[in-house]
Amino acid sequence: WKNAAPHLRHFLDASRAHGDADYIVYEDERLTYAAHFRACAKFAHALASRFGVRKGDRVALAMRNYPEWSVAFWSAAAIGAVVVPLNAWMSGPELEYCLADSGSAVLVADGERLARIAPHLGGLALRGLVVTRAEGPLPDGALPWVDLVAADQDLELPPVRLAPDDDATIFYTSGTTGKPKGALGTHRNICTNQWTVAYNRAKTALVAGVPLPDPATAPKRAFLLPVPLFHVTGCHSGMLPTFAAGNKLVLMYRWDPARGMQLIEREKVSGFTGVPAIAWQILEHPDFDRYDLSSLENVSYGGAPASPELLRRVRSTFPAAFAGNGYGLTETSSVVAQNQGPEYVERPDSVGPAIPVCDIRVVDPDGRDLPPGGIGELWVKGPNVVKGYWNKPEETAKSFTEGWLHTGDVVRCDDDGYIYILDRAKDMLIRGGENIYCTEVEDALYSHPAVMDAAVVGIPHRVLGEEVGAVVQVKPGFELDEDGLKQHVAGRLAAFKVPVRIDIRREPLPRNANGKIVKRDLRNLFVS
Ligand code: ATP
Repeated sequence: WKNAAPHLRHFLDASRAHGDADYIVYEDERLTYAAHFRACAKFAHALASRFGVRKGDRVALAMRNYPEWSVAFWSAAAIGAVVVPLNAWMSGPELEYCLADSGSAVLVADGERLARIAPHLGGLALRGLVVTRAEGPLPDGALPWVDLVAADQDLELPPVRLAPDDDATIFYTSGTTGKPKGALGTHRNICTNQWTVAYNRAKTALVAGVPLPDPATAPKRAFLLPVPLFHVTGCHSGMLPTFAAGNKLVLMYRWDPARGMQLIEREKVSGFTGVPAIAWQILEHPDFDRYDLSSLENVSYGGAPASPELLRRVRSTFPAAFAGNGYGLTETSSVVAQNQGPEYVERPDSVGPAIPVCDIRVVDPDGRDLPPGGIGELWVKGPNVVKGYWNKPEETAKSFTEGWLHTGDVVRCDDDGYIYILDRAKDMLIRGGENIYCTEVEDALYSHPAVMDAAVVGIPHRVLGEEVGAVVQVKPGFELDEDGLKQHVAGRLAAFKVPVRIDIRREPLPRNANGKIVKRDLRNLFVS
């Protein structure tokens, strides 16, 4: 018996039932479910017939949160291509690395990303380049998006057989070795997260004694997406569940709290999810009182530590809404645990219990299970955990043991299975929801000829959580200034990874007996 659990194509096919209901609102543009399906069917044919995209081929997306992102995602996934969403903040060399590493056959890019990648196209083996929202002439061989999606007739999706364990996505995460690594997700992984989101919603309503809306009669809801689609929170926990429920997705080019509040009021948004910084920026905005945010039923966040103070503020400001804190990783296709509604109020320090389909372990550094209450690394196994890292067997072997993902998060579980995130075992900081592996920034610092030693640490920041700080030792006989070094890094890495402060010194950095830099001591440098 072959498991016929759904894959993404089922959802796209089913979306036709929502007809003329709004699917995406972006600025003044509105895209209905019917128009979205027509564009997807047309683009899926273009991918297959113009560029020869077959099941398993990679199709990369390098775009801001435009409606085209969704069309390209669903079209490629529906014909069995593996979608490679690229971080829109990446520099040209970073985009080039991910395109080459994934062996992408087709790139769908917006004008800004095209300008960044254009000088590197010669070294890539792309079979197709499709460009949207660009001004001016396109490079040779590039095709305008509009030419490939304009539907003169209703088409069916090109035929293809898909199974739940077929590859569906490669999401790049920062790499411990300095280079991004692609987490290879399957259709099963992604569909699992859809059930998880629906389950969590239903469970919270049940616990709170609130009746669940009848999907057949309840009015459509609107969901604001303040985070990028190229991360799993935006794609798997934002776009996909909204789509599956036939609801409305409100997209933003970039997060701006005043604009976000305008959109909540204008589109009668019932929920949004982002990093804690986003909720804080709304709550603390000087013009907060000017907006009618009474449509909000749900204020969720995750992806970075959230203080219990945030929960208190959300509850006092939005007494009728549920607050929620979700925990997950790119490698778990979004959610591992979710603490929401009355349960979150009872345990405001916890990210909740693991979702029912997920097994968890808390282990010591040798991978041995700890007794209940013990503090150790969280390991996760389940249908949401990705297969491994694309083309990186060594990285995969380091992070997975017989299907158990080593999260790199240091946790404690209480007797009821609630997870408390205490620390990070991995050398990583989170700036406003963007993970930054310190080694990646350190490598960029080391590439400067005057840098002898370098360490990157997080500088605490009230809204962003952390900012990037660096401490650098100069080589004897060299001179180095902070601005020059920042510029050097900016030429190599996305802007959000460039240190905001660099402490430049002649003396060596503090190291422990094993020769490792003692980052704890360095962090204190930046805490005034
Ligand atoms: P996205 O990539 O969409 O931002 P994400 O943050 O869930 O999703 P990653 O970027 O892979 O996924 O980051 C995962 C890491 O973020 C975790 O290993 C953990 O260190 C941290 N993290 C995620 N959620 C929480 C949370 N609720 N509380 C504390 N830390 C969290």
